[in-house]
Amino acid sequence: MNKELRYVIIGAGMAGILAGIKLLERGETNFVILEKTNALGGTWRDNRYPGLTCDVPSHAYTYSFAPNPEWSSYYVGGPEIRRYFEKVAADFGVMPYIKFNSEVTSSVFDEKTATWTVSVADGTSHEVDVVIAASGVLHHPKIPNIPGLETFKGHAFHSARWNDEAKLDDARVGIVGCGSTGIQILTALTGRAKQVVALQRSPQWVMPVPQFDYTDAEREAFRNDPKLIDDIRYNKDYWAAIIRFTDGITNIDGPEMAEIEELCRQNLENSVKDPALREKLRPNYRAACKRLIYSWCYYDHVQKPNVYVETGGIDRVEPEGVRMQDGTFHALDTLVLATGFHADRFIRPASVIGREGKTLDDAWAVRPTAYYAVSIPDFPNFFLLNGPTGPVGNFSLIDIAEAQWKYVVQLIDRLKEGNARAVEPTKDAMADYEERRIAAAKRTIFGSGCTSWYLDDTGVPASWPWSYQAFVDAMAKPNYEDYRFAA
Ligand code: NAP
Repeated sequence: MNKELRYVIIGAGMAGILAGIKLLERGETNFVILEKTNALGGTWRDNRYPGLTCDVPSHAYTYSFAPNPEWSSYYVGGPEIRRYFEKVAADFGVMPYIKFNSEVTSSVFDEKTATWTVSVADGTSHEVDVVIAASGVLHHPKIPNIPGLETFKGHAFHSARWNDEAKLDDARVGIVGCGSTGIQILTALTGRAKQVVALQRSPQWVMPVPQFDYTDAEREAFRNDPKLIDDIRYNKDYWAAIIRFTDGITNIDGPEMAEIEELCRQNLENSVKDPALREKLRPNYRAACKRLIYSWCYYDHVQKPNVYVETGGIDRVEPEGVRMQDGTFHALDTLVLATGFHADRFIRPASVIGREGKTLDDAWAVRPTAYYAVSIPDFPNFFLLNGPTGPVGNFSLIDIAEAQWKYVVQLIDRLKEGNARAVEPTKDAMADYEERRIAAAKRTIFGSGCTSWYLDDTGVPASWPWSYQAFVDAMAKPNYEDYRFAA
């Protein structure tokens, strides 16, 4: 384990900070975290919309090694989460390693020297042995192609590019989209806006969840007894819900999925009083096919008198508002596009060129994929955290990244032993993984007949299609025979 390696970590979001902390923990200091913006936090920096909340319980949405007794409530808002990551990065000594305003434009592998040259937009470059791509998943806003959008006289903007100048108070606000983002924005605006028009193309299933504040006394107790935090983080009900979810999505006619569907259906039936509105809000696809909405208050807010749910298709945007296909016009001051993200980009548009000039665009011509979500043939010593085909769902991506790190670091250890300079999965292993994954993915609930960012361009679910336990087991130890080690 003597060989000193040089690393670039791309992105100072949750996963990049994790990688930095973990390298420091190993006594490895020869690394830099390249962050394209001037601040850390990734998705919690990009998203600033009103109502921004993480729908994973706060005590379960931390690094396992950095519990936080100070959370204000069971589910917390984005700014509090962002402050958590800032504090952890500072407490664990990662800040000096982050180079801000450093957008990576390319990473090029030289097989002779087994090094990557990582170039930054400012003209600098870094020659390293290992690249950790921790650049996030949902960070390229998808702007809908609605005719006339550019003619709108008020502020129209994507949810992840919040415009602080937009009129909200006593204003007429349209929200295109009702995914996790759109519904959180709606719940935050009903008390401020004169009118909220929810421009809903497809309704969503909503899982009811509890929400409550922690008292000062509870926070004091958390500080004094971390086991109380563990009791929440590893709470049997919370984990039972995760296991129910992951077992349910992979066994779509099993009892877990039936339970999820019943909980969502009952929530709709019991919460929404007006039968006409209830039908507008009733999806025509199975629960969890699109990402489930976890909310304690959406149905309350959507029934407020200043909310109108518009289900007709949008024809065009006009200077004063939105015209529907049936001619109905909604006059608006502000138009929020909660229309999701290009989920197939990952580290791109930065170019990545591996062995023999192979490009990531070529490798991902059909769909973005990676062997067990962490590595790609022809791209040696290039590892992804929260890369393609990892688990997605209603649980913490922090836990996912931590499990992936444990796997990746075992491959890195092979390089540190000095017997190999480069490691990558074999093409056979990759092909076998993809074949098994795609076959299983088609049988998951994500492939049961709806559109969502969970599907790739060919309509195949793009994620981990097996149980959560199968993921944890797979990440425990690489199968070294599936890797090519080059001396
Ligand atoms: P999303 O789930 O992709 O939802 C996009 C919404 O916009 C959908 O309702 C979609 O309708 C609609 N839409 C897209 N293009 C449209 C068009 N041209 N005309 C009309 N409607 C259009 O995006 P998101 O809500 O930003 O959420 C993305 C993901 O971010 C979530 O699934 C989740 O993983 C993550 N997220 C998590 C949290 C959290 O609390 N943990 C919060 C926010 C986001 P269709 O359904 O008909 O396509």
